Amino acid sequence: MATPMTPAQLLAQLKKWGVDYQEYKDWKTHNRNHKGAWGPVNGFMVHHTGSDAKDQRALLYNGISGLPGPLCHFGLAQDGTVHLVGWGRANHAGMGDDDVLSAVIDERPAPVDDESNTDFNARFYGVEVWYSGSHKMTDAQYKTLLKLSAAVLDFHGWNEFSVIGHGESGSPGKWDPGYASGKMMDMDEVRKDVSGVLKLDPKPTTPKPAPVPAKPKPVSYEPYPGAAYFRKSPNSSLVTRMGKRLVAEGCAVYASGPGPRWTEADRKSYRKWQLKNGYRGTAADGYPGKASWDKLKVPKG
Ligand SMILES: [Zn+2]
Repeated sequence: MATPMTPAQLLAQLKKWGVDYQEYKDWKTHNRNHKGAWGPVNGFMVHHTGSDAKDQRALLYNGISGLPGPLCHFGLAQDGTVHLVGWGRANHAGMGDDDVLSAVIDERPAPVDDESNTDFNARFYGVEVWYSGSHKMTDAQYKTLLKLSAAVLDFHGWNEFSVIGHGESGSPGKWDPGYASGKMMDMDEVRKDVSGVLKLDPKPTTPKPAPVPAKPKPVSYEPYPGAAYFRKSPNSSLVTRMGKRLVAEGCAVYASGPGPRWTEADRKSYRKWQLKNGYRGTAADGYPGKASWDKLKVPKG
């Protein structure tokens, strides 16, 4: 027993498995649920449309005379894009063999189909691959077919035996998906490839939060208080903070401190900073000038 995916669950699976898709009209509510059951679902059925036309959305959405649409859930274009054309009961599988269905339910290899006694439209998701079947599908189609199969199987926790071709389901006269006129693809090979892709199980694409750039600390530095300031032997936290920077720069000659009161030790320490920065003579008198002060970057208190 498996309840069919909701459209939202399906879209999440397509994203998780990296399936390129496009939504056609009101596909989410386009179905034939008014004509019969949809679900429980047991498997995923592969078809070819029998046509190489480049845009088969309208056909699959509307259906044909005597067979109203949707004719499947997924249309698979030559470029590997999945077109979502319906969601719910769809006219793709017709009647099938109950022994095949039992095998699909048990997720084991199916017996040769020889009956048409069971409503398969209720039990299978269906993809129509856009090609005639008289030649191979494109590589892009095949690649997407595997990912799409994996997206469905992964959601329900099914294995590769949940994938069957229409031509092995018990629907008379069907040979899809084909690779040459009247010849069905080797579905065991397809299932093997599906199994390989299924093992790659990517992480769900919960949108990663955008990396928050580390906020640069709003450090602002003390503006130059002017040459006269230091000649007045100030007593302020600014002097302490300046002294700490001089210590950090390896220019300190403090016997103790630094402290708030401007002393000869501050002047000598600052002189070392000036010398370190290439100042000489009166430019290295130990009283801060604007250029050396700005370079020292005394943090604000
Ligand atoms: Zn078919």
